[in-house]
Amino acid sequence: MAAVVMDGKGLAAKLKETVRLQVERMERRPGLAVVLVGDDPAALSYEAGKRKDCQQCGIYYDAFRLPENTSQAELMDVIGILNGRAEIDGILLLLPLPRHLDGRAAVLAIRPDKDVDCVHPVNMGDLALGMESFRPCTPAGVMRLLEEYRIDPAGKRCVVVGRSNIVGKPQAMLLLQKHGTVTICHTRTPDLEAECRRADILVSAAGRPGLITGDMVKEGAVVIDVSINRDAQGRLRGDVDYAAAAERAAYITPVPGGTGPVTRAVLMENTLAAALRHGKG
Ligand code: NAP
Repeated sequence: MAAVVMDGKGLAAKLKETVRLQVERMERRPGLAVVLVGDDPAALSYEAGKRKDCQQCGIYYDAFRLPENTSQAELMDVIGILNGRAEIDGILLLLPLPRHLDGRAAVLAIRPDKDVDCVHPVNMGDLALGMESFRPCTPAGVMRLLEEYRIDPAGKRCVVVGRSNIVGKPQAMLLLQKHGTVTICHTRTPDLEAECRRADILVSAAGRPGLITGDMVKEGAVVIDVSINRDAQGRLRGDVDYAAAAERAAYITPVPGGTGPVTRAVLMENTLAAALRHGKG
């Protein structure tokens, strides 16, 4: 069986266009601020991507690039200012922060109604309780991809590889909300192969290239590769052995061009949602 390749790039373009059309009709446009501490090249390129996305969607954008030696008090001041600025609806603090900074204190300082990346415990708590809240961009993007291809997790065996707070755990919660039977795997899972082989929907977010081999994929499964790793040649790769898995899967995401662009589009959706909550329209 040759798998259907799930087109994250195409879906992201559609989602961003929907946001753009809605923003175009608004009297006061939504605004996003990105806070970046240090000059890590990956973070800088990530920040540039957000700027471009906001430009495409008509969203006001402001970036705060703080030096590596920024103090906790300075960082808290910036977050406090952004919390109070009416043109800013969403605050994205790029993590991890340099070691001398207290990331948890910084996250707690973000106003929950501006927490478009869903890192604040109030929003994570709402997510766990199944309440209306922001949805973390990457796992929500995976759900968007499933919806786009009319894949309903209800009653399916869903296996999530990875239990991080930004991907694995919220992913499991979102699949559970859609009535999947969810297993979360991690480095202490004794037989990862057997767990994966049972999955109707397999989401891998381990950050380990080659972890998911073709024989770990059930015939007809949906395989979502969240991971973005660089191989020795500097090329982007996921966790999944794509060619072998595509032989067995019914649907599969490529890397790049799968979950990555959809994550970015969901951030635009969340920023729009925050602006609507703030009474912009
Ligand atoms: P992370 O915090 O490093 O978490 C990785 C998780 O995978 C951990 O729970 C770890 O288990 C588990 N794991 C690692 N090796 C494993 C193995 N051999 N067998 C089973 N489980 C294993 O990473 P993350 O932040 O969640 O990100 C995961 C990947 O997604 C990375 O490649 C990242 O670049 C990518 N990512 C992509 C997007 C996107 O937009 N597509 C967004 C965010 C992240 P333990 O808990 O036991 O250590």
